Amino acid sequence: MDLQKIMQWLEAMLKCPICSTKYLVEQTRVISSQQHMPFNEARILIHSDCAKCKSSVMFNVEIRGPQVYSVGMVTDLTSADSMKFKDFSRISTDELINLHLTLQEFQGDFVGTIAGQV
Ligand SMILES: [Zn+2]
Repeated sequence: MDLQKIMQWLEAMLKCPICSTKYLVEQTRVISSQQHMPFNEARILIHSDCAKCKSSVMFNVEIRGPQVYSVGMVTDLTSADSMKFKDFSRISTDELINLHLTLQEFQGDFVGTIAGQV
């Protein structure tokens, strides 16, 4: 499967779920792709910025032979953010609960504390 050809095809097919504008090649970026040649299958994660309404959308596209499944999700991540976070592990429920409990107890300058750690 030729990823370049798939991308050209996807760019012709995909449009912004907010304003229906078609995406431009230069505003679309492949975040990750996997191919399984023996089964003619591929999975592609794409980030697109809409030229018209400026919203960002990530598309998960799965190709299984002649069938193509695409799921779009509006995001506030830029394509650079998407590249940065794609290999991060997901946040667990325990981590969120711990954060919540920590914030409940927290006294002082929250923004200053967070900024000091970056
Ligand atoms: Zn749009």
